[in-house]
Amino acid sequence: MLELISNIIAHLRHPQAKRYLVPRILSYNLIQGFWTNVSFLHKTANKKDIYKTYDEYFTNAALNFLEKKKDEKKYEKNKFHCATCENKMSTVSEAFDLTWLQRIGVDAARKSSHYWDHQRDIFICPVCNLVYSCLPFGFRIVKGKGFFINNNRSVDELISVNSVSLGDGQQEVTRDELESMAYYKIIDFMVNQTESRKDLEIENIQIVKYDRDMESRPYTYNILSRHKLMLIDECKKEFQHLVGKFAKLDDEYISLYQEVINRLYKGQSFTDLIYRLIRQVIDGKYNNITNIYYILKISNHQYKGGVHFMQTEELNKVRSYGFYLKKAYASQETKLNGISYRLLNALKVKNPSKFMETLLQAYSYKKMEIPSIFVQILNDERKFETIGYAFLLGLHGYEGNTDKEEIKHG
Ligand SMILES: [Zn+2]
Repeated sequence: MLELISNIIAHLRHPQAKRYLVPRILSYNLIQGFWTNVSFLHKTANKKDIYKTYDEYFTNAALNFLEKKKDEKKYEKNKFHCATCENKMSTVSEAFDLTWLQRIGVDAARKSSHYWDHQRDIFICPVCNLVYSCLPFGFRIVKGKGFFINNNRSVDELISVNSVSLGDGQQEVTRDELESMAYYKIIDFMVNQTESRKDLEIENIQIVKYDRDMESRPYTYNILSRHKLMLIDECKKEFQHLVGKFAKLDDEYISLYQEVINRLYKGQSFTDLIYRLIRQVIDGKYNNITNIYYILKISNHQYKGGVHFMQTEELNKVRSYGFYLKKAYASQETKLNGISYRLLNALKVKNPSKFMETLLQAYSYKKMEIPSIFVQILNDERKFETIGYAFLLGLHGYEGNTDKEEIKHG
């Protein structure tokens, strides 16, 4: 067996092995997610030279086209326009379509009704075809999931923000880590170009996410605006803490980082996520209160500068009130859980008076005075949610979890 293995290793070390085996593996593991059925991925091409088949389909067609274009008089007469650039083709057979790109183009062979009068009239030129073949290399991918940051002010900038390191092969980098690194790279890049963070001029940046497992729609398109990027910057500690953190919701493990980032992109509120996580906590199925508190802080931070915003000290204070009430109910777990459920339900249906009523009962039962901060929940729905969830986190924190953050007595 050893002899066999050393033989195999010797073969793999052969320069030709690297030249042919690596691209073959890449073509199946990576490129196939983007292209289909052309060039070296064509059904009949699996035994052919991978470099030759690439050249035949992509490079040669582009070179021939550019050569023919030099004859200006003849080129002027070309009638078929490329859909993405200014090139013109003389015949349809000289043009390409986008059907070979997975889930991007229209498969004209299967469905021609996308086109006017069933006539295919969207063509691209051989040069654009060659450029599109590089699509797999624009994405940073870990285990079939990745992204491309279309920061296209300049080619240098585009390359720079997308060149986040996939690691040195020793330690595995996760998709969350990669994405997080990329955002801070964008921010650093921009900060280096201005005097201060406040003067940052950020145009909207398109972020294309790719997920091989989403077969019908592997690409999702998001826009990173100045406001969203600033939030990611200002809540750096919270976002970085969420990288690589998972929770089980509806029998499915979800990445908290991705959940928060996706909500941020879509401009959605975070409270449904916070609600579901706290629900898990009360049911004894989840115990990382710190993760939830960080999501709550990001949620609160969206309102920075506005009326709904709460200072971190205030938030901590509310959480500590929850903690003290919990201590008062130390030996009455069932009662405490009953209170939690009622508070949580009041939050879910956005009913501040119901919340207040439960709170008053809970405090008066222990002959404790209700803190005045709770008055705020009655006239501001956003504050109601922030205060309510912070209080619930206090009510369920600091027992059997790894939260090292000191609670400030207030
Ligand atoms: Zn073109």
